[in-house]
Amino acid sequence: TVEIHDVHKWYGTHRVLNGIDLTVRPGEVTVILGPSGSGKSTLLRVINHLEKPEIGYVSINGELIGVKRQGDRRETGVPPAEGWGRLKELSERAILTQRARIGFVFQNFNLFPHLTVLDNVAAAPVATGKLGKPEALELARELLDRVGLADKTGAYPRQLSGGQQQRVAIARALALRPGVILFDEPTSALDPELVGEVLAVIKDLATSGTTLVIVTHEIGFAREIADRVVFIDGGKIVEQGPPSEVLDKPRHERTRDFLSKVL
Ligand code: ATP
Ligand code: MG
Repeated sequence: TVEIHDVHKWYGTHRVLNGIDLTVRPGEVTVILGPSGSGKSTLLRVINHLEKPEIGYVSINGELIGVKRQGDRRETGVPPAEGWGRLKELSERAILTQRARIGFVFQNFNLFPHLTVLDNVAAAPVATGKLGKPEALELARELLDRVGLADKTGAYPRQLSGGQQQRVAIARALALRPGVILFDEPTSALDPELVGEVLAVIKDLATSGTTLVIVTHEIGFAREIADRVVFIDGGKIVEQGPPSEVLDKPRHERTRDFLSKVL
């Protein structure tokens, strides 16, 4: 379970997240919608501690991400009620270990250009010491097969289409066997004819019970796979619920206005 508790984030005087509370249960698919600049990417970045919130915290299975309680020898445990003041930043190494449990798929793929597709997928399990090289390569082959790229293992990212690169990025995220995978507009950099192949892979993950948090403007896709849709505006959750409510019977004017523009 991912718990986001009263998260606030400022850039200078600009308040980007304004008290976000959100719970993502194992196996659930959460789709986050919202206008440009509403804080969606920032929220994903806070979840894996690429950004630190000024107030609030994120925990995964009860373990605080990026911080521990001052004076508390346990690094896991019940999250503090009192917020940020009594928390202490974890070591960079401990944060990296936590991040390995959270997959992240970016809009622009972010593959290693100098590594083959196979090595892109195998790199992280080796670097984190989770698997030896031969096991990592075997896992990478399996995962590339799963995303339909068994024939591309020896290619370099630049030799692939955007849709293929994004499928490699998804296989790479899976290689660490994360408890949750975050997607930030995974199809918005793709030509329209390549969107479907990436959505099909994400749908396969959703049906097989992987916990997913997806920022996307693909409303039809959200309706199909989301257990919950969360609409964010101005750094706040305006409404959340099953797609049949938020997408089909939105209660708030701002949600209706947004949906009328993206549909
Ligand atoms: P989009 O749909 O365009 O991707 P978003 O909902 O993902 O938008 P964010 O990227 O989270 O929005 O940005 C929210 C606000 O925070 C924006 O006003 C943005 O300009 C600002 N912002 C984001 N990152 C930074 C940063 N590193 N420094 C300063 N301001 C930032
Ligand atoms: Mg964004």
